Amino acid sequence: MLGRAVDDNSTGSDSDYSNSWISWFLSSKGNEYFCEVEEDYILDRFNLTGLNNEVSNYAQALDVITDNLDDDVQDELRGALDVQARLLYGLIHARWIVTARGLNKMLEKYKRVDFGRCPRVLCQSQPLLPVGLSDTPYEKSVKLYCGRCEDVYSPKSSRHGSIDGAYFGTSFPHLLFLVYPTLIPPKVGPVDLAPTSRNADAEGGRRNRRSKEESEATESVGEMISTASAALKAERYRPRIYGFQLNETAKLQRWQEAVRDRQVTRLEALEDLS
Ligand SMILES: [Zn+2]
Repeated sequence: MLGRAVDDNSTGSDSDYSNSWISWFLSSKGNEYFCEVEEDYILDRFNLTGLNNEVSNYAQALDVITDNLDDDVQDELRGALDVQARLLYGLIHARWIVTARGLNKMLEKYKRVDFGRCPRVLCQSQPLLPVGLSDTPYEKSVKLYCGRCEDVYSPKSSRHGSIDGAYFGTSFPHLLFLVYPTLIPPKVGPVDLAPTSRNADAEGGRRNRRSKEESEATESVGEMISTASAALKAERYRPRIYGFQLNETAKLQRWQEAVRDRQVTRLEALEDLS
């Protein structure tokens, strides 16, 4: 699925280097998650405030992106500048995709399923959106967010798995659903019922933690000993926009955690009896 995702202006070769740096970058293998940042946005210095502190050789890296680099720059420096240009483009990209025009460009890619589909069986091939787990570069690679199960996954391809998550940011998918609420995937229907969740565990390779606890509670006491502590240790993904947790999700998660804590208390009581 991911291998198929190629940007429209891609020719599948590296020969469009002469065209423009951005179109070369977008058509390079592994960069399929990125959308085109419009030149107007890049040329407005206000949009780039503070990025000069994050990228070394900032001015020249910006020249690379906007195809204004002097031809007499030595090849050796050119290579180093290209690394900085990618970093700069990524950081600009993270800012661009949360603007109205940027959201719209990413929406087109989402509708084309450029980011793949949720591997969880019960999500019924829900298209994914890229998300960062950190807004600081060099910390976490990009993950894929499913609006249906509200969890995050690693990209299937290692080429995508090595992309910096900060180039997409922690707010992007949540802001997209905030701006386009009609796109929020429905959660109603029989798909989230516990009896089928064990199939999803086996096939999807991940857990629906709440129903896992419930199904394992009916199993032998020996298995329960680890269940209570495992349930407490299970980490959850918390959607955030600009660092603030989303209100509705936060409410739901508080409820889910209360259910979990009650279940853990019951499991611990059973463990004490054994
Ligand atoms: Zn999902």
